[in-house]
Amino acid sequence: MSKSPTPIFEWHIKDRRKETPDSYTYVFSPFSASDRFTFNVGEFVTIKALLKRPTASGSVEETEVERAYSIASSPTREDIELTIKDEKPYGYINPVIGKADGFAAYFFEQFKMGDKVSVKYTKARDPFLSKVATGAEKDIAYWSGSNGAECARCLIQYMEDRRDLDLRLALFYSNPRLYSLEDQESVGVIYYSWLIDMARKLDNFKVVFTFTRDSETNLNSDHPRIFYRKGRFFKDEEGKPERTLQKFHGNVESAFNPICGSSGFINGLVKLKTGSIARGRGIVQELMEIERVKPEKIDKEQFYLDVAK
Ligand SMILES: Cc1cc2nc3c(=O)[nH]c(=O)nc-3n(C[C@H](O)[C@H](O)[C@H](O)COP(=O)(O)OP(=O)(O)OC[C@H]3O[C@@H](n4cnc5c(N)ncnc54)[C@H](O)[C@@H]3O)c2cc1C
Repeated sequence: MSKSPTPIFEWHIKDRRKETPDSYTYVFSPFSASDRFTFNVGEFVTIKALLKRPTASGSVEETEVERAYSIASSPTREDIELTIKDEKPYGYINPVIGKADGFAAYFFEQFKMGDKVSVKYTKARDPFLSKVATGAEKDIAYWSGSNGAECARCLIQYMEDRRDLDLRLALFYSNPRLYSLEDQESVGVIYYSWLIDMARKLDNFKVVFTFTRDSETNLNSDHPRIFYRKGRFFKDEEGKPERTLQKFHGNVESAFNPICGSSGFINGLVKLKTGSIARGRGIVQELMEIERVKPEKIDKEQFYLDVAK
């Protein structure tokens, strides 16, 4: 049986907002009515773009490149927003193929306001957050790495629009530090101010920020739905085990735990320089071992495989 081709949609870039020194939120509008489709919270699209990228010999090659992006705006809204973070440095040459193989840095450079992009979208059988989209889970403890809060943003906008007070969200958001390492004048946490505003505004949303490598910045919350802590989740400041879910969320039994970010954040997997995979501990292991969370109360979306630097 032949597989039906993945539908391709055309979107225009309507706006672009800088989130942090290495990430932007792009606002897209569908080119025509047939370029619009319905989706649920937690889903992603694949962007296809023609990009000029350097090769090891110093020339430039133009190729079509694709990457997946979670939809960061609510399905209840007109425009579609994607937040794109540049993970791989501009100019990085993959030593095996002798060419640049990144997407984000070149997309930022070459795609301007009004440009058209091709977008692939198919409905997966069990997309990320599908249990939230169907209403089966309403008490959510969302665990995000430094790049992973996009679906939480989509969900927060959805909660704001629907005013469904049965839906509750606690966002556990882990970043190395508050300020960007490259530009210390800029906040390096995607959506930082917006999340604080939303926690103040929505009774059913709270946010727990943790900073894993920031010993200098001391932040104190002035609001009962905004929390700051230091170090990795599930360890207190002295390095002793901490029941982070129990402490900040309260109801471990009812909590549904979507986890989004890199492989290292989710389950401790990192690709070593030798090519083999090292297995450490991630949020999945901590939730199951420290908090006794059952596997059916966990959902995962992996953005990429961490590589040892
Ligand atoms: C379902 C899904 C949803 C996603 N949603 C989003 C989203 O909403 N927003 C978003 O920003 N991304 C998202 N991603 C990831 C996205 O597709 C891109 O991988 C990301 O934007 C980084 O793009 P890049 O071009 O910088 O790096 P890529 O070419 O995609 O490469 C990323 C890889 O490069 C590695 N890397 C990092 N630094 C180096 C280095 N110095 N040398 C060598 N390798 C390095 C990383 O460990 C990672 O494995 C999603 C991925 C999936 C599968």
